[in-house]
Amino acid sequence: MEIAVRTAQSEPSRIKSLLEQELGFGRIFADQMFCMRYTEGTGWRDPEIVPYGPLPLMPSAMVFHYGQEIFEGQKAYRRADGRIAMFRPEANAARFNSSARRMVMPEIPVDVQVRATLQLVGCLREWVPEPPSALYIRPTMIASEAALGVRPAKEYIYFIIGSPVGPYFPKGFAPVRVKAEGHYVRAAEGGTGAAKTGGNYAGALRAQTDAKNEGYDAILWLDAKHHRYIEEIGAMNILFVFEGKLITSPLLGTILPGITRESLLRMARDEGRPVEERRMSIEEVTAGIEKGTLTEAFGAGTAAVVTPIGTIGWAGKDYVIGGNKPGPFTQHIYDTLTGIQCGKVKDPYGWVRTIE
Ligand SMILES: *Cc1c(COP(=O)(O)O)cnc(C)c1O
Repeated sequence: MEIAVRTAQSEPSRIKSLLEQELGFGRIFADQMFCMRYTEGTGWRDPEIVPYGPLPLMPSAMVFHYGQEIFEGQKAYRRADGRIAMFRPEANAARFNSSARRMVMPEIPVDVQVRATLQLVGCLREWVPEPPSALYIRPTMIASEAALGVRPAKEYIYFIIGSPVGPYFPKGFAPVRVKAEGHYVRAAEGGTGAAKTGGNYAGALRAQTDAKNEGYDAILWLDAKHHRYIEEIGAMNILFVFEGKLITSPLLGTILPGITRESLLRMARDEGRPVEERRMSIEEVTAGIEKGTLTEAFGAGTAAVVTPIGTIGWAGKDYVIGGNKPGPFTQHIYDTLTGIQCGKVKDPYGWVRTIE
């Protein structure tokens, strides 16, 4: 499939001055995007790179009514040698297809997704800021058919946009305060928790907003059945260092199978650290913090890569982990993974794809 490029190269000096400001997260958007359309019976057509701008959609477009939508998140990094690198783009493409299957949307071959991403990032190379900033890449698919009635749509739009981003948490690599949520739930067994679909995030806003108002940075989600077992924080997976072992929730269909999570588990195993994928209850975690056997906790996800957790609020009490400082393993694994992504540390896994 030939990708038509219908954009002019952007003005490097204008981009440079845009990148010099405080980037924040997801506030500035690169001026080119990838777009492709799907119709049942015909399949995917018209792959093109076009100027970033509004999509023509009818108010009856099904995405607005029934939320048939999926997305991905990955980053392009600027390396010291000037090359641009992507981290495991095939893994994001495979996960996009697994989200598509769950939401009854058309899959896109992994190689087509990766080619579209790499070609767009090539066009946007001037938009990739210096580390620790990066160009966040957001592939998205929406149901664009103009129709009412609850059923899978017959028409879709797939697009990829780019946003130069600074650190996800404005405080940077500083421990966050999370609130274990005993009332609201994010995902139930058999639900859509393992798919990156918009409704999961809309459904989380009530709890997230209440937690912010109570002085927390993010929600620590517990399982829907028992309101006990730790699942995720915000839009990140969560890992603990407990009795020297790295422990994280197994993939039981309620949590998002994070690529950062999987990469960190692989790296930890290869370093000889014991790794366990098992459920931990909030009682086990808070007791471990009090006894001093739970020494570190951190979130893992593309946006922030690794986020140390300094405080867990539960049942009206704040539990402080590791003196509210990033732990040694958290710091080490963050340095190693971001080092691999930016080309400062050798990549023994073949995870990094560079764009010449
Ligand atoms: C995207 C996401 C993650 C992290 O996935 P990565 O592939 O590591 O970026 C974790 N949890 C949720 C809910 C997510 O949406």
